[in-house]
Amino acid sequence: MMKVLGSFLLSIIMFLTACTDNTRSPMEITVYNPDGDSVGTATLSDQPDGVKVALKLAGLPPGMHGIHIHEFPKCEGPDFKSAGNHVNPDSKLHGLMHPEGSHLGDLPNVEVDDKGKLETEVTVQQASLKDDKYSLLKGEGTSLVITEGQDDGMTQPSGNSGARIACGQITLKEDDKSESPSNPIDDGPQKEE
Ligand SMILES: [Zn+2]
Repeated sequence: MMKVLGSFLLSIIMFLTACTDNTRSPMEITVYNPDGDSVGTATLSDQPDGVKVALKLAGLPPGMHGIHIHEFPKCEGPDFKSAGNHVNPDSKLHGLMHPEGSHLGDLPNVEVDDKGKLETEVTVQQASLKDDKYSLLKGEGTSLVITEGQDDGMTQPSGNSGARIACGQITLKEDDKSESPSNPIDDGPQKEE
């Protein structure tokens, strides 16, 4: 009897472990322009050196652009200020070229082709989609933001990269349009706005 119960519990534990490993990576998010129209997707996957982000976007201004991971999963147009600052769990300065940098959310610039398309892969070094300090899903999650200009890798606080022109929410919360009382997994203090 105890033996049966034991193996039953073990299989439940194994099932739950398998679930948490598989539901997060890879995860596909939708990226929006300031008008709220989709410009494509980004697919995030856990890698040994960080989170790989495969971008498949269209309808963007040709040329070099900054791309960063921001601290809140909120893409409210047209300025996307709702996304907050760059993710920075180690309190470093901004910029991949800064000696006291960089933010976890700092990424190399990307180049949109002359047809407005961007299909490339970038890696958020050191980040994860797991439950740790560097998780892009920490708390409610984060967001991916593309800027009008390119990041100079040095200027505070965001590399002089200009206005935010596209934004995608990185979160496990599906459709939070209806304010349904979902189960609060975090019991820490939540800031209400
Ligand atoms: Zn930064």
